[in-house]
Amino acid sequence: MVRRVAVVGAGVSGLAAIKCCLEEGLEPICFEQSEDVGGLWRYTDQAEEGRASIYRTVFTNSCKEMMCYSDFPFPDDHPNYMHNARVQHYICKYAEHFDLLRHIQFKTLVINVKKRPDFSVTGQWEVVTQRDGKEETAVFDAVMVCSGHHVYPNLPLADFPGIQKFKGCYFHSREYKEPEKFRGKKVLVVGLGNSGCDIAVELSTVASQVYLSSRSGSWVMSRVWDNGYPWDMLVITRFRTWLGNILPRALSDWLYVRAMNRFFKHENFGLMPLNRTSRKEPVFNDDLPSRIACGVVVMKPNVKEFRETSVLFQDGTVQDDVDAVVFATGYSYSYPFMEDNSIIKSRDNQVTLYKGILPPQLEKPTMAVIGLVQSLGPIIPTVDLQCRWAVKVFQGRWMDMFWAKVLFLYGSSTTLQTDYITYMDELASAIGVKPNVLKLLLTDPWLALEVVFGPCSPYQFRLMGPGKWNGARKAILTQWDRTLQ
Ligand code: FAD
Repeated sequence: MVRRVAVVGAGVSGLAAIKCCLEEGLEPICFEQSEDVGGLWRYTDQAEEGRASIYRTVFTNSCKEMMCYSDFPFPDDHPNYMHNARVQHYICKYAEHFDLLRHIQFKTLVINVKKRPDFSVTGQWEVVTQRDGKEETAVFDAVMVCSGHHVYPNLPLADFPGIQKFKGCYFHSREYKEPEKFRGKKVLVVGLGNSGCDIAVELSTVASQVYLSSRSGSWVMSRVWDNGYPWDMLVITRFRTWLGNILPRALSDWLYVRAMNRFFKHENFGLMPLNRTSRKEPVFNDDLPSRIACGVVVMKPNVKEFRETSVLFQDGTVQDDVDAVVFATGYSYSYPFMEDNSIIKSRDNQVTLYKGILPPQLEKPTMAVIGLVQSLGPIIPTVDLQCRWAVKVFQGRWMDMFWAKVLFLYGSSTTLQTDYITYMDELASAIGVKPNVLKLLLTDPWLALEVVFGPCSPYQFRLMGPGKWNGARKAILTQWDRTLQ
């Protein structure tokens, strides 16, 4: 039976992991290399080795009612979309409220995680940590990897011929903090993800010109949706998911493209995704269309070649006198502390995880990777449910038989891109916390209607079953009040 659990990292995933372990009577020890909780949301002026780094003006693109822990709403007076400092404050309050801090060893870096020689029988891990230059080794019954996935830059310079000749400066978006030093400069931002759009828009307030280069376009959505309500409270609903599943694909694609274009027609702005109907994660930016309309951000296709001071694009256009290039080209997954990296990164360096959590080739399911799935939904409720599911798996006596089946059946790789509600329901069903809509209809019809047609807010997964929170019903019925407030 699992007892001692090592949690690597004290970001939002690590905190959820500690809390879930405690609730199941396990003994978590969390190792955090930095001096505080928060992970990505703890802003610092300098990027720190091994920890995600954000720019000063990062705001959430999930609203407060959708992105909170399922039993800990944001304070009523917080705005719907929050500056990173508010999120960090909330995370600290969460850790305090549930008394999680005493389970964390700060300034302690996990440097090695490996199977014990008797792993196939015990499922145990050996974890080596480093603090003040001193190494310590301990044995754990399970490991929860909560080390984050926005840490190691993906900077594919080989895809950009001539970059070595380029005389201006270039760097990955991880290094970007604020726009001031680009005042009056011509800047090229490469990549149309959330960071690329944010940085391009912010730079456009001081730079003489910003170019934004995209290989395949993106849907750009506004945080502010119909009648000014938060996009996610209107879009992420059970009813819509159900509709999407039963409609013929052609009709659901048409509706999807129509919804994505309701704010502005992407084609007219040079933003149209090459694959219009793929449900690739959209980008959230309220200002990009107007910055393009004002000509301060100019859309460009993929870069063909860098020259000393200019850039040649795929469409044959050349932009002269470019001073700086920001590569907002995303991140790659890395687990430098894993002695056998293939446990998480198998098959062609791809990540393959059962339910997006468990490395399937382990003889015993005693390792969980938290926070790696991608969906349109917010990460905090996702990791919260992943941790609730994972600790149940760690404890399951029936697990050996079930796991043998997984090992046998789970041959091929699955994508980490997933539909939010479908994924959440899958995990919730397995641990008995999926809201039973039929039962609710009979016993509490008003709540049932809000659960089906209203936003699929995290509180829904605390209405019933293990870990039920008595405040969940009220939180659901008052979520619109807090949004308006
Ligand atoms: P992290 O926050 O990265 O925390 C990992 C922790 O592990 C860090 O504290 C790190 O120091 C520690 N660590 C790592 N390695 C070790 C080690 N070897 N030993 C000890 N400690 C270690 N998601 C949303 O839902 N909504 C949003 O609005 C949103 N906005 C985002 C904006 C940006 C710019 C980015 C990059 C991401 C955004 N995300 C958003 C996704 C974001 O990744 C998650 O919200 C969340 O912060 C991930 O938390 P985590 O705990 O998994 O990882």
